[in-house]
Amino acid sequence: MKFLPVSAESLEMAAQILIQGGLVAFPTETVYGLGADAFNPQALAKVFEVKERPAFDPLIIHIASAETLDKVADLSLLSGKMREKLFLLIKNFWAGPLSIVLPKNKNIPDIATAGLSTAAIRMPDNEAALKLISISGGAVAAPSANPFGSLSPTKAEHVRVKLGNKIDMILNGGQTKIGLESTVLDLSGDKIKLLRPGGVPKEAIEKLIGPIDDTSVTEPKHSGGKTSPGQLESHYAPKKALSVFEREEIIRQPFQTDGAFLFYDNSAKNEWLETQSQRLPKTAIIKVLSETGSAQEAASRLFETLHKLEYFNITHISAQLAPNEGLGIAINDRLKRGSLSPAARPAAL
Ligand code: AMP
Ligand code: MG
Repeated sequence: MKFLPVSAESLEMAAQILIQGGLVAFPTETVYGLGADAFNPQALAKVFEVKERPAFDPLIIHIASAETLDKVADLSLLSGKMREKLFLLIKNFWAGPLSIVLPKNKNIPDIATAGLSTAAIRMPDNEAALKLISISGGAVAAPSANPFGSLSPTKAEHVRVKLGNKIDMILNGGQTKIGLESTVLDLSGDKIKLLRPGGVPKEAIEKLIGPIDDTSVTEPKHSGGKTSPGQLESHYAPKKALSVFEREEIIRQPFQTDGAFLFYDNSAKNEWLETQSQRLPKTAIIKVLSETGSAQEAASRLFETLHKLEYFNITHISAQLAPNEGLGIAINDRLKRGSLSPAARPAAL
């Protein structure tokens, strides 16, 4: 396995690997993606195998320019009105963390879309990713570069630890900027539907194209219907039991030596500290996602912090939910899904 910093040479090498049907992990602005040529069914099959991802969970297809859209989607199946909205979305949010579900082009193998007649497509806002896509086949299917259901990687090192021995190359582009997956928006039906909250907040989309239907984003729970494949209840889970609390609840939780606390902001942490009857030991593990309560900063640190907590000698994590608006909705979605990890997960790595 090659582990190389992003450079003109390493990008060229990575493109060759993709062209020959290999797998390359690369940085995007959301999380690291595990890339395969989107037109090569064998390479796509390897992605599912390496991630142990169920075949019913479709991949997001990454392109490097809006002109390529016709190669991966069939826009003739959209109404004129829907096409107008699509172009508005592209103009405003691409390159960026918005995946758009569209009728798929028949050149895209069924395995990429889990047999669906639609494909989720996006253009990542990362120079290395765009270059890699444009010098390989022009379309790269890339789910997050982690084993299915576990924490998404926001650093090349996270990929190396969890998938390093199973893939051909990791391009190291440092820490990802946004740190949360893309928003998934479905334009393939009569109504525009939000399928997954992510890097582009719902409010920003609605400001541009009017009200959208978000009833497909189910509250994560142990049982109940799924609406978007991949919106499984348990997902994004650290290898420690994770419990989530609203602000008023977490400040009443007592400290325990075998647990860590993850606060959204300093104000909640300070209030919690005041309520603790005993002095905390020096070894207490207490993290804050954003001292000032910036949702952007908190989003960019979420997976990174949870990755770190996986290595501590603790059995559980108590985490504070973000204010439920803007990016906070995506943060809470990941925290809640992470909290539904099967309790039987090993306590240590
Ligand atoms: P990721 O694991 O970040 O690559 O996310 C892929 C997710 O995008 C899937 O798990 C689905 O939730 C969503 N998705 C991808 N393709 C489609 C599609 N054709 N229709 C609906 N949702 C999709
Ligand atoms: Mg994923």
